[in-house]
Parts: sequence; structure tokens; C-alpha cells
Amino acid sequence: MQVEYTKMFIDGSWCDSDSGETFENINAANGETIARIPLAGHSDVDRAVQAAARAQREWARWTPAERGRVLRRAAQLLRENVEEIARLESLDTGRPIQETPEADVESGAACLEYFGGIAAGIEGEYGDLSRAFYYTRREPLGVCAGIGAWNYPLQIACWKSAPALATGNAMVFKPAELTPLTATRLAAIYREAGLPDGLFNVVHGFAETGQAMTEHHGVAKVSFTGEAGTGKKVMGSAAGTLKQVTMELGGKSPLVIFADANIDEAVSAAMMANFYSQGEICTNGTRVFVDASIEEEFLERLRQRTEKLKLGDPMNPDTQVGPLISKEHMEVVLGYMEDGKASSARLVTGGERATGGELDKGAWVLPTIFAGCSDDMEIVREEIFGPVMSVLTFDDEDEVLRRANDTEYGLAAGLFTRDLTRAHRVAAALQAGVVWVNSYNVTPIEMPFGGVKGSGIGRENGHAAIEFYTQRKSVYVELEGVDCAYD
Ligand code: NAD
Repeated sequence: MQVEYTKMFIDGSWCDSDSGETFENINAANGETIARIPLAGHSDVDRAVQAAARAQREWARWTPAERGRVLRRAAQLLRENVEEIARLESLDTGRPIQETPEADVESGAACLEYFGGIAAGIEGEYGDLSRAFYYTRREPLGVCAGIGAWNYPLQIACWKSAPALATGNAMVFKPAELTPLTATRLAAIYREAGLPDGLFNVVHGFAETGQAMTEHHGVAKVSFTGEAGTGKKVMGSAAGTLKQVTMELGGKSPLVIFADANIDEAVSAAMMANFYSQGEICTNGTRVFVDASIEEEFLERLRQRTEKLKLGDPMNPDTQVGPLISKEHMEVVLGYMEDGKASSARLVTGGERATGGELDKGAWVLPTIFAGCSDDMEIVREEIFGPVMSVLTFDDEDEVLRRANDTEYGLAAGLFTRDLTRAHRVAAALQAGVVWVNSYNVTPIEMPFGGVKGSGIGRENGHAAIEFYTQRKSVYVELEGVDCAYD
């Protein structure tokens, strides 16, 4: 597949880096080089920030309705190019082409459409004080830096840029070094939709490039998606210039299945919560707590369906499981599988690399289930970010809540029950930013998204995102003169 969008995009122009340095973008399915990507240094980041600052001053003067119109045009262009962009995302991430048209392109378009739609409805407050009144203005922050992870590159670029742009900010975005292509494609979409030069810039690179963004004096806010450890570094670096931060970090989320659950539905959710996108999803419900009385039945149905999953070429429409993002990441995931096998957990299925034919060239692992897990095992405590499910049993609600919450993370959680009061009671007690009841991993753009505890700060999506891309200015207006304490 010929790949077109491999440059950086700064101030409305496609460009290489000042140093001329590049890095390789590798296809995880076969190890081949897709493209060489320019590596941004400090001067490139600075150029992007300067351009963004210039463009933002003018953009903030556009009416919100005018800004919204550009975003909605961009949403339409994403949809018109869905096939091409989905292929690009599958090529770059290794995620099956079964997933990317809907989970990436359509979800990105829905995001642009949503923030384009609500832009004109963002309001301040008014307060009557009898002899005076006040109102608040929601003002943009200025230049926002977006730093993305590699699992959902286009969606992450949309989730950050759309609310930023809708509210009058500019953005400098750095996709993950492993997946640079679709954020760059998004820049072309924005340009075609009429977004003025400088408002959405894409720079490429590794930690050092990201750090140049988080340290930059011209950047007002950093919205970061990635590992919790990196998030702490980013927040520390942003603190030097007191930037605002949004942190979308990792998780080790619980999925709790009570004895009265519809078991087939619960099995479907557990599979979606662990094997979709090869398990490379931050919200995944990787700790599956099953009421001990239904464990056997649950595991048997789960095993049968899991063993039917089709691994293969991400571009084949029949493929359900593609390769992991890289060979390095595969080694990490295989390491966790070995930990699981060496523990007292029982391997139900998988537990090794998937090999044979084309699979040998890429980073495939078998969808894996461990049963009989206990809370202190490494596979149960640490984020693996691969298709590895740990099944644990419980006897009562209080016990499972205590164990489900016994983690440093708090991104998401799920529960399956037919008992209405239990559902709401447990949803309230789970320490997570998102709780799904009788479902898992559904993230409509209308619903706020983000974590608590070690999983993050701030929220993306929904009206909540507006809060994190604007600042309130309070304006007090006196109607009766200064009440002066002095003669
Ligand atoms: P990562 O933390 O390794 O990298 C994320 C991004 O940060 C990359 O663009 C990287 O180049 C950049 N970076 C690395 N060091 C940096 C530094 N010192 N300063 C600035 N930028 C730096 O994460 P990853 O491996 O790309 O992604 C996987 C992780 O992302 C998982 O932990 C997953 O749970 C998390 N994630 C979270 C969400 C969410 O919304 N909560 C969504 C997707 C992924």
C-alpha cells in the first residue's frame, strides 16, 4: 500500500524536520518498513508552537458557529474517505480492518461532528447581585499540546483536537512514534475542511519531542494519552510552566459478573473487553470476577468462543485478531503469559505466540485466558495491554467490591446482573471513571470519558471536555457606584 501522509504538518505546510533526521515506521504484520518519518527536534516544535499561537489569536475571534462549521465539514470528509483512512489505520496499528472503519474513522467523525455541533451552544453564567451583576466568559487556553498513544491514533487525535478547536484553541499534536500516519492524514482533512493554517499542527518523534512540547513556554495545556508512568513524567515537566493537564492513562479494570447475569452476554462482554484490538485498549476489563457458582459454565462457553477467533492479516475482512503493535511489545506480553503459566493460575487457552505461515513474520499472540487467578498475581495487578484475561471467582458483593477496587488504577469497570438495585449500588461503589452496566467498552462521544486514581486527570468527550479546554473569566459589573471605605 502506497502511503502518502508521512511528513510533519506545520503552519499549513507539509515539511521535513530541520535536522533532516528520520525514523522508521514498521508494519507490525510483516516487519516491513512502511515509511520514513521526520523526527522533530526543539526547533520544529518551536516553529509549530509559534504558528499555532499566531493562528489561535485570529481563530478565537471567529464565532463558535463558524468554528463548528469547519469541524462538521471535516467530519463529513472523514466519512467520505472512510475506506482509505481505515486501511491506513489498520496498516499502521495492525488492528483488523473489521474494526477500523467504525471504531476509528466513524468514531473520529462522530467526535468532530459532536464538538462542531455544540460549539455554538457553549455558554457562560450570569449572576444577579442586585446592585451589581457578574457574568462569566469561557475563554480558550491558547496553544494546546496533544500527545497520543499508539492503539487508537486517529481517535485520540480527534478526541483531543475537536474540543480544543471548537473552543478557540490551536493544537500541536504528536502521535505515538509507532503510529504516525492517521493523525497526519487528519491534518489534511482539516485543511480540506477549511481550517486555517497553523491551527492543527502535527510533529513526529519520541519522548524527547514530547518533552519539547511539555516544556515549551508557549504551550498552555497538555492533553496526554499513554502509560501511567509516562503521564507522571509529562505532568512533572508541565508543572515547570504551570500548564493545565489532562491525563488519559492506563488501567487494570474489573469486570464483575454476578450469578444472575445473562451468561452469554457476559461472555460476549468479557471477550470484547479483552480481545478486541488484540487487547490493546486502556479500558479493558482484564480482571474478570465471576461468581463462583457460575464459573464453570462461564469458562466453558468463554473458552469455546475464544478458540474460534480468527487470527490473520489485518487487511483480510475475516480477521478478528491482528498482530500486536511491535515485536518488542509482543515480548512484553509473552513475558506476562510466562508469569501466568509459572503461577498457580490455570491456563484455559492460549498462552503463547501464534505461529505458522504469515504469522511468523509478525507479532501475533494467542488470545489467552487464565482461570483460578488470585489478586496478588502479576498478571492480575499489572496492565499487560495485550489479549490476556485473568478470571477470578468471588462469593459475595462486599468481597468483590473490595477486591475490584484494590488497584492503583481507576479507569473503567463493568458489571453484569439482572438485579436493578444491585447494578446501581455496585456502579456507585466501583472506583472508576466509567462503569458499564450489562455492557463493556462502549464509548459514545456524548459520554464523559476518563479515569480516577492512577488512571488519569480530567475528562474527554461530552460537555465535560469543554471544561478542560477553556478557562472561566468572571466579569463583575457595578450598577450603583463604588462602596468606598475611605473619605
Ligand atoms: P507511552 O506512555 O509509552 O507513550 C505515549 C506517548 O507519550 C507517545 O506519543 C510517546 O512518544 C510520548 N512520550 C513518551 N515519553 C514522553 C515524555 N517523557 N514526555 C512527553 N511525551 C512522551 O504509551 P503507549 O505505549 O504509546 O500507549 C499505551 C498506554 O496508553 C497504555 O498504558 C494505555 O492504557 C494507555 N492509553 C490510555 C488511554 C486513555 O484514554 N486512558 C487510551 C489509550 C491508551
